[in-house]
Amino acid sequence: MGPPEIEGRPGRAAPHDLRLTIEANNNGTGESGQAPRLYRGQSYRAVGEVRHQRLDGSEATIVQWESACAQCGAPFVCAVPERSRKFQPNRRCQKHKRPGVRVRP
Ligand SMILES: [Zn+2]
Repeated sequence: MGPPEIEGRPGRAAPHDLRLTIEANNNGTGESGQAPRLYRGQSYRAVGEVRHQRLDGSEATIVQWESACAQCGAPFVCAVPERSRKFQPNRRCQKHKRPGVRVRP
């Protein structure tokens, strides 16, 4: 007369895949009208644009660039304002990105 066996709990052992989903606002490939760019030997491909309204009402376009991490080669997307004169995108993925630390070639 042992205790009744508890029926197996629904398996919840599935590992949770914490994958960073980058929501690139691309309307199809090549629709952004931006040519691929090269920055310090890394190539960047425009994958989308985001229109952003500033507090003063003016509109700014943020271009989303896809590249491969300088450290691990993983693809990542970074955003650079279209109007900024200097094209200085991130060179590393979210995992290896550290504010204020620049990759040395
Ligand atoms: Zn990386």
